[in-house]
Amino acid sequence: MKKHSSDAKTILNHLGRLFGFLKALDAKAGVDESFDYPLEIIRQTMMFDVSVLYKVSNVIEDRLILEIVKKIDPNGLRPDLSEGGRLRVFLNAPDSRYVNEVTAFLTKQTSYENVPDTGCDIIGYVYLPESFGGAYLFGGDFCGKESSVKYYEVAGIEIMCNFLSTLLMKTQFQYQAEIDHLTGLFNSYKIKQKADFMVRRFERKPLSSACIAMGDIDFFKAVNDTYGHIQGDLVLKKVGEILSTSMRGVFDVAGRYGGEEFLLIFDETDETHAFQIVERLRRTIEATEFEQADKTGKGQKHKFFHITMSFGIASLTKNSDIKTALEWIARADAALYASKRNGRNRTTLYKETP
Ligand code: GH3
Ligand code: MG
Ligand code: MG
Repeated sequence: MKKHSSDAKTILNHLGRLFGFLKALDAKAGVDESFDYPLEIIRQTMMFDVSVLYKVSNVIEDRLILEIVKKIDPNGLRPDLSEGGRLRVFLNAPDSRYVNEVTAFLTKQTSYENVPDTGCDIIGYVYLPESFGGAYLFGGDFCGKESSVKYYEVAGIEIMCNFLSTLLMKTQFQYQAEIDHLTGLFNSYKIKQKADFMVRRFERKPLSSACIAMGDIDFFKAVNDTYGHIQGDLVLKKVGEILSTSMRGVFDVAGRYGGEEFLLIFDETDETHAFQIVERLRRTIEATEFEQADKTGKGQKHKFFHITMSFGIASLTKNSDIKTALEWIARADAALYASKRNGRNRTTLYKETP
């Protein structure tokens, strides 16, 4: 079989398109999706017979553990590589099929090899700090007698590795700046920014009303005091999950506003509808069984407890005279305070003249 032709011009053309992709990248897209487009470009430009992307998952003594994140292998030439599977490769004496993987990992550079009468392959190294999840390797195989790696193919892979590294760091930086690590919801900076954005949009175009709801866990201090701080954190995590999953598609944005306080934003929703949604959510939380954990955070089966939450809702309408996000949030907070005062585990709508 003759090697496919991938010329330098084709490679440059395709690389140019990666710039647009980098700019448009959504920080909330998972790492796997981030790779779809670059990997497709690699397939089109390099015309590998087999393309593969590995995540470096661990090094245990003399073995390198690689996770196969993606593989494009239309002719089924590499059954040893299955997507989602793991490879264990000896660093000192690697299997001949994985020599480049090991060299690229050890040198942190692109590695390639021509094997006369068989084919050739290139593997590149994608740098990513450990705190961001660690490195990736990617590249592929050309099969066939006349195959040999060209210098511009090596350069192409190196440029793509740098692109991927930048792309992954960009998504991770953005993620860390906007997401609360405990609950996976937006952090207070981002949720306030979202509320602010809506107030400003409303000034320009006062369309239908929008609402925010402030929620606060009742007697949360007692959860910490009774079961410990680790259990408290687990409760926050689970409340975050309930907010983001059970309500998906119903409200637009949820964030952790402070310690055990959450802010929800409902675009184009009037207060009657927002009240119904929040009440449903409040009842879900009331009915949820929270698993008791021991001091180390390990769940104790069949031991559960319950919590409740109080909410306050404030709307933004043509007549509401709200100038800033903080004023809007303060109203939701005042309504929340009324819920607390009136016995907790309830939802209150803010009234202009309470
Ligand atoms: P109320 O019904 O009036 O809201 O009572 P409460 O006990 O929930 O209110 P309070 O404001 O007295 O206590 C809030 C507690 O939340 C105190 C603090 O230790 C705890 N807390 C805040 N942030 C975190 C966190 O990140 N993890 C844990 N485990 N606890 C937190
Ligand atoms: Mg509380
Ligand atoms: Mg509180």
